[in-house]
Amino acid sequence: MSRVYNFSAGPAVLPEEVLKEAAAEMLDYRGTGMSVMEMSHRSKAFEEIITTAEQDIRDLMNIPDNYKVLFLQGGASQQFAMIPMNLMKNRVADYIITGQWAKKAAKEAEKFGKVNRIASSEDKTFSYIPDCSDLPVSEDADYVYICENNTIYGTKFKELPNTKGKTLVADVSSCFLSEPVDVTKYGIIYGGVQKNIGPAGVVIVIIREDLITEDVLPGTPTMLTYKTHADAKSLYNTPPAYGIYICGKVFKWIKAQGGLEAMKEKNEKKAKVLYDFLDQSRLFKGTVVPKDRSLMNVPFVTGDADLDAKFVKEAKEAGLENLKGHRTVGGMRASIYNAMPYEGVVALVEFMKKFEEENL
Ligand SMILES: *Cc1c(COP(=O)(O)O)cnc(C)c1O
Repeated sequence: MSRVYNFSAGPAVLPEEVLKEAAAEMLDYRGTGMSVMEMSHRSKAFEEIITTAEQDIRDLMNIPDNYKVLFLQGGASQQFAMIPMNLMKNRVADYIITGQWAKKAAKEAEKFGKVNRIASSEDKTFSYIPDCSDLPVSEDADYVYICENNTIYGTKFKELPNTKGKTLVADVSSCFLSEPVDVTKYGIIYGGVQKNIGPAGVVIVIIREDLITEDVLPGTPTMLTYKTHADAKSLYNTPPAYGIYICGKVFKWIKAQGGLEAMKEKNEKKAKVLYDFLDQSRLFKGTVVPKDRSLMNVPFVTGDADLDAKFVKEAKEAGLENLKGHRTVGGMRASIYNAMPYEGVVALVEFMKKFEEENL
């Protein structure tokens, strides 16, 4: 068996310890004589898996009691619709456009009401986060929406926008559990787990209780109503059981690493190695304004598309995989999520140094 360093943006690298544990429990989960994949979601064993997972993410993020944690399906993209369907009482929402995911979310919300794009960084290919300290937040806005870490462009909100009292909704798909957060600043925090937490198929929604109501837009399907899932503790219908089980293992793994403070420290250390190299390289260049750089997704270019392609190909041959940039941006992108070891980033930088010497 040989594992590569996988820099994929998602689905992405998972902790090796977690994969080994899951493998060991595959045929017989703790004396049940079956795999978690094969068991009833109403069984005692699964009930323990989901309640433990919820408690562990509550501990990690310090989630207050007046927030629910929901394990749903449909990916982050389904939330683009679910959020307005449940929250748009006035049929108005403000969106801050910092990349493709926020753009898609705004476009979807437009199906349900008026969307005000109150800030954008599209003028410079989303290479920065706009100043959000004094935005023209709409008086009747039901919420203000951000994509907190922009997976494709490699930017991150280091400071949350001033929403002037309006509910903040954040897509944290690509920075989930990468550093401590103050949950009380948000109405909803949500993310697909396949970037930083688990296998594709689970989306975690952390939602303040007052936002969970029966008063949703007319025609909202039962399955797209937060209240359905909150009342049923994420067991209204068959949940993505195996995915939740793996998420639970990752929560335990993060706890064992020392929690979110420790994750942040590790992530900063990893990102620094790469950014420091980029800042002095004569061949490679980071594409993001330094103050807005993500700890998770690091895009870079040589400025020459053929050379970029050569780099991606040779890196793969050296066991450094999935470094091709997003199809809308080109160049390269290294996603260095929680489970990417420090050694992986060092190996990447060593390879970049060698490539620079050979190709300059
Ligand atoms: C990947 C990603 C999405 C889309 O997630 P799906 O689960 O594929 O719908 C949305 N937002 C962000 C920030 C992402 O990184």
